[in-house]
Amino acid sequence: MKKYWRCHVCNDIHFGTKSPKICPTCLQGNAYVEVSSCEALNVMSVTESHVDKDAFAKAIQVFAAAGEFQINPDQERVALLLEGMFNNENNHGLKYCPCRMIEKDFEKDLTLVCPCNFLTHDSYKDKENGECWCGLFKKRRHHE
Ligand code: SF4
Repeated sequence: MKKYWRCHVCNDIHFGTKSPKICPTCLQGNAYVEVSSCEALNVMSVTESHVDKDAFAKAIQVFAAAGEFQINPDQERVALLLEGMFNNENNHGLKYCPCRMIEKDFEKDLTLVCPCNFLTHDSYKDKENGECWCGLFKKRRHHE
């Protein structure tokens, strides 16, 4: 079962079945302690550095370039989706999916942070027009 772990040196939060032997952020060995989801959320909301829209847009471009999908070429739609995502970050702490409702259950809601695991979505399985639920990512066709 996955749990939350916090590096007692640099406050890095890890979510997994066991704690990393070496903290990937500060390189301290054996530095993680198990914490509650509440403490993990509080630490993240205080320490998280918010990236701006341009940086996030670039990050998802890089993410898409490494996959079998692309960012939706409809720029207006993408701009609206990013707006919704950043509103969610301001109101709820993380960039939750702009087209689905969070349940206020932190662990469940983590599955709604963008980009989510959309390769499993029914909407993505369509061979020709597959896309994530919101249409931010679209399956790349061979000629694209
Ligand atoms: S459905 Fe699309 S927009 Fe929504 S979280 Fe997943 S990848 Fe992001």
